[in-house]
Amino acid sequence: MGQETKPKSSGGSTLGFSTVAIHAGQDPLGPVRSVMTPIFQTSTYAQTSPGEYFSGYDYSRSKNPTRTALEENLAALEKGKHALCFSSGCAAADAVMHSLKSGDHVICGDDVYGGTFRIFDKIFKPLGIEFSFIDISEPRQLAHAVRAETKMVWLESPTNPLLKVTDLVELSRLAKERGLTVVVDNTFSSPYLQNPLELGADVVVHSSTKYIGGHSDVVGGAIITNDDALAERLRFIQNAVGAVPAPLDCFLLLRSTKTLALRMERHCDNAEAVAAFLNERSDVERVVYPGLSSHPQHEIAKRQMRRFGGMISVYLEGGLSRARKFLESVRLFTLAESLGGVESLIEHPAIMTHASIPAEIRASLGISDSLVRLSVGIEDIDDLIADLRQALDVSQGA
Ligand SMILES: *Cc1c(COP(=O)(O)O)cnc(C)c1O
Repeated sequence: MGQETKPKSSGGSTLGFSTVAIHAGQDPLGPVRSVMTPIFQTSTYAQTSPGEYFSGYDYSRSKNPTRTALEENLAALEKGKHALCFSSGCAAADAVMHSLKSGDHVICGDDVYGGTFRIFDKIFKPLGIEFSFIDISEPRQLAHAVRAETKMVWLESPTNPLLKVTDLVELSRLAKERGLTVVVDNTFSSPYLQNPLELGADVVVHSSTKYIGGHSDVVGGAIITNDDALAERLRFIQNAVGAVPAPLDCFLLLRSTKTLALRMERHCDNAEAVAAFLNERSDVERVVYPGLSSHPQHEIAKRQMRRFGGMISVYLEGGLSRARKFLESVRLFTLAESLGGVESLIEHPAIMTHASIPAEIRASLGISDSLVRLSVGIEDIDDLIADLRQALDVSQGA
């Protein structure tokens, strides 16, 4: 595709999501005009004269062409000007936190990813950054938590694992009135279902390990923003701290974003069908899915998301023993942490992903022993439902 039609990452593009996903950042490069961006497996670059190097590439911690292509691609997909890629979602979160200083205060959603809570609580709190955890799906709660030192609001929507949805337009408006930076971890939606920057957020964070990667074969993270000064600061942190992704991982993620729209459509189709099936079962206490009209923020989800995603949480009848038997009985769903891959996964948040959250906080949030989280993959829907049906049947009375 010619230079003049290359989708630009700086917004204003009228091209559709998949066109951008397949082309942004990916001009055929190099002497052989390879259609796919090569894996530039190099740590360093030849200089023509001391301090003079080609296209700004001097050392791969600072910059690598495969990573540059991925960063331009993700910026375009999130409709942002700048993207920075990291070796994991946690490394991306760490970089955002490093933009703050001791004494600063952060208001954070109260059911964020367990690893995010752990970085905040165990790494940055001891370094002097203060945190308040609130139910941010009620944006008005912000007013009660805000202090003179508050600099940032950090949230997920939908959240993990309770899939609470926050009105991002309303929250961003309230935060902006107070001069706060709004960071949205958009991992559960992927850029295909929701673009927080367009809804008023300042920063988007992703664990690209999940839907962006989509094949459960890469760990990665990204930050996207339109804020030039913040991007420059984050670029400095990215290089200084060095939690950068390897060229092969960047290549794999570029491969993945090309099919993101197709995968997300199928994840959503399958999750809607699974949610409807579970909702009909009398041995299921409650199904939590933003696409169900029973979901408390269903109307907000409809407004700000293209569809409702592939994640479902479900409270089973019976306690821990039922949940355990159910999780041991599934055959197609794999009992594993993580989410967003083509294969269906299932897990027990209280024992697995959210074990690092203290038990009393888990209880107050509703992360109980009967809660099971499903990452619905893109297999054939009849097979997924048959698997859940047999596991529910087998585990009854356990
Ligand atoms: C997995 C995850 C993270 C952390 O990402 P890693 O790539 O595992 O470091 C952050 N936020 C959410 C919502 C996640 O699901």
